Amino acid sequence: MNKIEHIGIAVKNLEAANSVYKILLNSNPYKEEYVESEGVTTSFFKIGDSKIELLEANSPESPIAKFIDKRGEGIHHIAFKVDDIRAEIDRLEGEGFVVLNREPKAGADNKWVAFLHPKSSNGVLVELCEERKE
Ligand code: ZN
Repeated sequence: MNKIEHIGIAVKNLEAANSVYKILLNSNPYKEEYVESEGVTTSFFKIGDSKIELLEANSPESPIAKFIDKRGEGIHHIAFKVDDIRAEIDRLEGEGFVVLNREPKAGADNKWVAFLHPKSSNGVLVELCEERKE
């Protein structure tokens, strides 16, 4: 693990949340992106070396819609940057963590991503992400 890559925040309305975070962070999102694999639209803000990802569900079946139904808006996941996502998946699975997708998925912001079940990390959904090299 290198660093916290970003913090993901589940929001009901991306437009409205963008307006709030523009004022809060005093900057504009640098990217807005539809992520098919998760059924979400995301926007990314950069503050120094850190990033905030806002996520809005595109359908009621999206994991983000289910999260908001259960827990309301708020912090959804913490993403850690890794150099070799497959090696990290193997390492963490070997340590007893529950990996939700063993096969890395194409995530937002040009990343390969895999998630760890919150039950194995004290209630926090963990995202591993590796930069995609084309
Ligand atoms: Zn994320």
